[in-house]
Order: sequence, then C-alpha cells, then structure tokens
Amino acid sequence: MFEYDLLVVGSANADLVVGVERRPGAGETVLGSDLALHPGGKGANQAVAAARLGARTALLARVGDDAHGRLLLDSQRAAGVDTSGVLVGGAPTGVALITVDPSGDNSIVVSPGANGRLTPDDIREPSAVALLTSSRAVSTQLEIPLETVEEVVRGLRPGTRFVLNPSPPQPLPADVLAACDPLIVNEHEARVVLGTDAGATPEEWARALLALGPRSVVITLGEEGALVADASGSTRVPAVKVTAVDTTGAGDSFTAALAWRLGAGESLADSAAYAARVGAVAVTRQGAQASFPTAEEVAAV
Ligand code: ADP
Repeated sequence: MFEYDLLVVGSANADLVVGVERRPGAGETVLGSDLALHPGGKGANQAVAAARLGARTALLARVGDDAHGRLLLDSQRAAGVDTSGVLVGGAPTGVALITVDPSGDNSIVVSPGANGRLTPDDIREPSAVALLTSSRAVSTQLEIPLETVEEVVRGLRPGTRFVLNPSPPQPLPADVLAACDPLIVNEHEARVVLGTDAGATPEEWARALLALGPRSVVITLGEEGALVADASGSTRVPAVKVTAVDTTGAGDSFTAALAWRLGAGESLADSAAYAARVGAVAVTRQGAQASFPTAEEVAAV
C-alpha cells in the first residue's frame, strides 16, 4: 500500500521581507520596515498546503545546517509533513530577499543555496527511492535543478501520478513532459515552455502544450479560475468569488490540492474544481503557508 498521498520534491526557502517606501537605485541605501521572516519556497509551500488539507505528505528537499533550515523543518513538522526526506547541509538554506513597496509590488532576489544542491544522486539514495515508490502522487517545481526533476521522473513507479509546475519556467525535455499528468502552468509559464506565442486564448495554449507530450495540462488563470485539458478536450473551471487580499502561494496551494485529489483517483475536472476552492481561500488571507486552508475551511466556501 501507499504510505503517502503526496510526495513533494522541491525547494525550501526562507522568505526575508522588508517594506520600503521605494526601491533603492544602484549605490543607494533606503531604510525599510522591521524584517519579517517566513518559511517559503514552492516545494515547502506545496507540502504544507497538502498536509493542512489532511493529505499524508512527505517533502524531499535540501536545506542548510543553519537557523533558516531549522525554521523550515519546524514549519513542515508543525503542519504534519514527514520531513525524513529533507537533507541538511552542503550550502546555506535558500533565501528569497523580498522588498515590498506601498503599492504592494515586490522585488525579489533568490539565492537558491541548498536547493541547487539537491542532486540526481540524492534522488537515487535508498531513502529517496523509498519515498518515491510509496507515494500515490509526486509533485515537483523548477526551483531545484532540472536534472534532479528528470531523475525523479526516472524513479517513478508505474501508476504514480506525476505533477509538474515548471516555475520558474524554462523549456522542458521530452522525458519530463511525457510524464506530466498534468503540466500546471500560468500564462507566463505557458509561453516560456512553448517558446513561442501560441495564440490568444488559454484553450489555444493548452492545445499547443498538449502537442509537446504531457498527458494533461492545467492552466491557472487567477481570478478567472483555471482550464483543464487532455486528449478528450478542454474544460473551464470557474473561480470561487472571493475578495483577494494576498495571492502569494495561491498557485502552490492549488497545485498541491490538485495533485492530492488526482492521486486519490478523482477526475482532472473534479480535482481542479477542489483546487480552485483551496486557492480561493488562500487568496483571502495574508502570506503563503499561513494562508493555506484546512479541509473544513475549504468545505465552508
Ligand atoms: P499562479 O500563482 O500559478 O499564477 P494563480 O494566481 O492563477 O496561480 O492561482 C491559482 C488558482 O488559485 C487559480 O487557478 C484560481 O483557481 C485560484 N485563485 C487565484 N486568485 C484568485 C482570486 N482572486 N479569486 C479566486 N480564486 C483565485
């Protein structure tokens, strides 16, 4: 039997956030607000989102042997994520240095640190293979090396549902594309993965993406909801009407919820409808991991 509903293989970052009146130019110093320190990174976010919904979740990642790494491990464990697959050391924990101006616009510098040292060799370790082969669904992103994602694909057991959100986006090799069921992208990611301007509508992007080889595609459309597509056609998934206060992490919670429901055997359309409700709750609250709902909270929307 499967020990985990979802294994997330991905990044873990400390998000260091400072509010500024305006961003400094070259050679300039500006004063900002008190520092806010939050656990983040797409992998860590997805794992917390799934665990909070009640999924038996494990995280395969790498953090530094430092205070940020301990913060990330603590936040995963507090959410109920199995952290036996989180490797420690090799480089400082990944960090996102974020400035936010009064209009809410962000400027972000990411130091991948230990995330960049999660290698294909790490995925071949017996402990990682055990996690990979005991999970109903596996979710990855691209804040870890692409060759590590390729090794995850090679290690999948037949029948395990593989989900990729290629963020930050880059063109993808055929072996990775062929494993995606689905490939989850927003408009920007769709354009980069396609490498061309593939038309004006999400339906056209989805058709062009399917031609690259994934078994299915999901396009997230913010307050417009999402589009799901596979060989049988495409369907719009409407968004739940809410008042958004902070969209940080909405895509991560959507992806985690979708991967979990697909692994449980639900259809693509039903899984995406559930994931849209999860994303809708997440945008009504501040923060990323702090905004992710429980299953009871999702049932109430
Ligand atoms: P990404 O961060 O990948 O661009 P989105 O911002 O599209 O992802 O958010 C993911 C999902 O969360 C959307 O497909 C939608 O279902 C839901 N969502 C996002 N923003 C809103 C919003 N303002 N109102 C309702 N649902 C939203």
